[in-house]
Amino acid sequence: MHLSDGFGRTFRYLRLSVTEACNFRCSYCLPDGYRKCNRPQPLTQDELRRAATAFSELGLTKIRLTGGEPTIRKDFDAVAEAIGSLPSVKTLALTTNGYRLPDRAATWASAGISALNVSLDSLNRNTFRHITGHDRRDEVLRGIDAALEAGFNSIKINAVLMRGINDHELMDFLSLAKDRPLSVRFIELMETGDHAAFFQKHHLATDTIARRLERAGWTRKLKPLDAGPSIDYVHPDFDGSIGLIAPYSKDFCKSCNRLRFSSLGNLHLCLFGSFGLPMRRFLKADDQIEDLKDALTRAVRRKTEGHRLATGETGQTSNLSSIGG
Ligand code: SAM
Repeated sequence: MHLSDGFGRTFRYLRLSVTEACNFRCSYCLPDGYRKCNRPQPLTQDELRRAATAFSELGLTKIRLTGGEPTIRKDFDAVAEAIGSLPSVKTLALTTNGYRLPDRAATWASAGISALNVSLDSLNRNTFRHITGHDRRDEVLRGIDAALEAGFNSIKINAVLMRGINDHELMDFLSLAKDRPLSVRFIELMETGDHAAFFQKHHLATDTIARRLERAGWTRKLKPLDAGPSIDYVHPDFDGSIGLIAPYSKDFCKSCNRLRFSSLGNLHLCLFGSFGLPMRRFLKADDQIEDLKDALTRAVRRKTEGHRLATGETGQTSNLSSIGG
């Protein structure tokens, strides 16, 4: 059984947010830090397991745990293990800011997480602190080394390059992929409801990065349309690769193969959609999983053809930590 929408897209990949809380204060996401006041409790471990069961039985066999910062959950290891051991989950992935990686990388790899994305927006200690509000660059770098040793199948470093903040570091970022089998991915800054002025000042178009890569001898790698939205580059002198995530490009939504489920139990058909469909009522007991599958199958038919970011419509997304970036 597969989940598909009215535009011929089939969904294989779920981004499951396990918390909206984050310990970092990234200037483009949560500059004042996460505020807990009066927010509902996130899904419990059992609710997350039921959601993951329903999606995976509907053909979404790759599940990425995200947030907020997923690893600040006290029961994160147990959540990862519970979801990783579901028979229909083929790939369990994690997106993290990396602060717990030095200690936990090996444990998470053995718990079944096979694909790891680490966000790292600067290699310069001061700039890292300026962007994230934390003096933790060294920890994250140590975490990446620990992850390489732990034997994940895939390691990606995600950086948001911003004009006037860290765009001069492009070549330094490339050097991470020189002798290591990892992919460095540049995510184009997206406009969110909270940060219109920041976006205007610091947005850097992916085309600009692509031109700089091509001038430095990187070539674009062809890949199947259903492989997801990143535009990948390779270079004969580098072990790793580069990916560009260009949400403003005209074909970005065509290859959309993902759905999002928030830590409050809402289905989000698009990161920049204007609504989340409440599903928590179907997560109270194991015998509701079939009802949840029916509700999801109906809901996905409502997915629109694409977002309207290019015209400045950011939907209801005030920042990405609330839905799971
Ligand atoms: N805390 C985890 C982390 O740091 O990776 C997971 C959540 S974070 C919201 C996921 C990704 O979204 C990060 O790589 C972050 O850089 C990216 N992100 C957040 N806001 C963004 C924005 N406005 N534009 C582009 N990327 C953004």
